[in-house]
Parts: sequence; structure tokens; C-alpha cells
Amino acid sequence: MARSIISADQLPLLYPSYPFEMDKIREVTDRYPMLISPYYLRLIRQPGDPFWKQAVPDAEELMDRDGMIDPLAEEAFSPVPNITHRYPDRVLFTVSNRCAMYCRFCTRKRKTGKMFPVNDKTIEGGLAYIRNHSHIRDVLVSGGDPLLLEDDELAEILDGLRSIPHVEIIRIGSRVPCTLPHRITANLAAVLRRFHPVYINTHFNHPDEITNEAAHACSILSDAGIPLGCQTVLMKGVNDSPGVMKKLMQKLLTIRVRPYYIHHMDITCGTAHFRTSIKAGLRIIEALRGHTSGMCVPHYVLDLPGGGGKVPITPEHVIGLNEKELLLKNYQGETYRFKVSQEDENNFSQYGLQQRELR
Ligand code: SF4
Repeated sequence: MARSIISADQLPLLYPSYPFEMDKIREVTDRYPMLISPYYLRLIRQPGDPFWKQAVPDAEELMDRDGMIDPLAEEAFSPVPNITHRYPDRVLFTVSNRCAMYCRFCTRKRKTGKMFPVNDKTIEGGLAYIRNHSHIRDVLVSGGDPLLLEDDELAEILDGLRSIPHVEIIRIGSRVPCTLPHRITANLAAVLRRFHPVYINTHFNHPDEITNEAAHACSILSDAGIPLGCQTVLMKGVNDSPGVMKKLMQKLLTIRVRPYYIHHMDITCGTAHFRTSIKAGLRIIEALRGHTSGMCVPHYVLDLPGGGGKVPITPEHVIGLNEKELLLKNYQGETYRFKVSQEDENNFSQYGLQQRELR
């Protein structure tokens, strides 16, 4: 971390032949700080590649005027500092303000690198809130990146959560296995396994982020009995092709990481240049479903602006009703019939599914 790239002026030294517009790049990093770990820097093979796009500031970040500062209304749904309580039985608990890289596409760009307060008072306040709300059974520990805390700091927080009887599940959101895999040590795994059931959702966006080091980091966590999932963000120029996504999902399973979500880009200020069409996302799901193992197919979701929560978007498979038969399109585009009950027929009609003749 100490050798991370944090100043715009370091970029031309690293990439002397690239025509940086330094005035603009400095303006970008003043608004949205930069931090690239030496490990992630090594993944960049050439300017403009998928790793560069995720890590290196771009003047385009200044051009986005339609984005929102806090698209998911995390602050509006925050009853006490660093807790977001949007869904009834679970909360997001921010316990760290540091990341191993400041991803250019981050939904929390408003906070990334800004050193917002995370201290004993906010941790205690968060734990007290969870303790006082007995319907919270699932806590997503996030940040920043919680795995950038020291092992004993993390243990203290997890210990606090485990002392609350109604907290059943602890989930940790971390990009460290991808951006700083050496942080995943045997000691960290030993700490985490004391607080089971603990789940980790990590975040890989490209198959070539799955290096030997990243695979090793994930195996340390899996061997500690921690189920691993992956949240991927769909981004133009990074992974917006069915081939790249399929390879990513298949490679994740080989390192015991289960694909969980593909997120459509949030409408976050400074990220418009990453945004794809929804059609591009649906095309990717169509290319996965049926063409590879169901375990490789994550949910493609939109997180609704204003705090409406996540909504899955799926390609259309149910295409009509024909008396007592449902008409379904399979992964090869062929139509099949499936006999349904009277109750199903009535329900499907209610949902606006039209009677349709089979060709
Ligand atoms: S590691 Fe996660 S929270 Fe941190 S900048 Fe990247 S996407 Fe955002």
C-alpha cells in the first residue's frame, strides 16, 4: 500500500509516451482521488485496456453532469453514521474508509479516498443500532474495504457483531482478493473463521484479474470455510462482451468463487463513460443461460436510483399462453409448450400475458 500510485504527476513517468492532458487529470484526481496498488498496476498491459480503465483517472470523469452524487440514497437511508438500513432484515455497516485501489467506476465515488469518519464512535454507534433492532439478522460489513483493517481491528468488530444474538449472518464485501491479494493471509483467515457463518462477496470484473495470486488468496478464504461470491460491474470497454463475461464467470468457479451479481452501472456522477445499454447486459445473460453451467449465471441487476433496491432483469423466456399451455423460449430461441393448471392460467392472464397461438 505504501508504494501505491497516488499522484497524477506519477502517471507520465510510468507511461511516458501516453499523451495525458495533465491539467484535466490533476482536476480529476483533486475531485476523485487516485490510488493504484503496485500489484494492480502490473495488470495493466497497455493504456486503455480493461485494467487501465478501472484504475487510471480519465478526463471523461469531469464531463458527466447527469450523474448523481449518491445514486442509491445511502445517506438518506442512514439512521446513524455508517449504517445504511434499506431492507427490513439487513444493514450495510461501513467499517473502513480505505480501499486497495480507488476504482474509477465506484458507486461511492463521493466518499472514495475522502477519509470520511470511521472511528471507535461510529463503530460503537453502528453496533448499538444493530443491537437495538432485533429484526436485523444479516449484516453486510463494507467500506471502503473492511479487509484493509488490521486483523485485530476487524476481529473486534466481528466480535461485537457476534455478541448480538439476532445477527445470524455476517457478510463482508471486499475487493482485496482482486486488487491486493497478498493481504489475504492465513492469519486473517484464522480470524474470520472464528465468526462463522461468514460469507465474502468479492469483486472481479475481468477474467485476467484472476491471477495466480488472486486464486491463492481465494483458496485461503475457501479453505477457512468461507463461501465466496462475486459481484461484477458491467462496464463499457472492460467486460461488455458475452465472450469476456463467460470466461470470467467460468474462471471464477475454478477458484471456488460463485458468480452472484452482474450490476448494471449505477448513475453515479463521473462514471457515464462506463455505462452500457441494458440490452448489452441482457445479451450477456442470454449468452450464459443454457450455454454454460447454471452456477456460472449470476443475477443481472439494476439498483434503483433513490434507494428502491435491486431489481433483477432477465431476458424474456415466457412468451405467451395457448389455452392451458405456456409458451417458452429456450436458450436456442426455440419455442416449447408447458402444460399449466387453471390457477396458473388465470394468474398469467392477470399479469398481462396474452393468449397467443402457436405457430
Ligand atoms: S474497492 Fe470497492 S469501495 Fe473501494 S473504490 Fe473500489 S469499488 Fe469502490
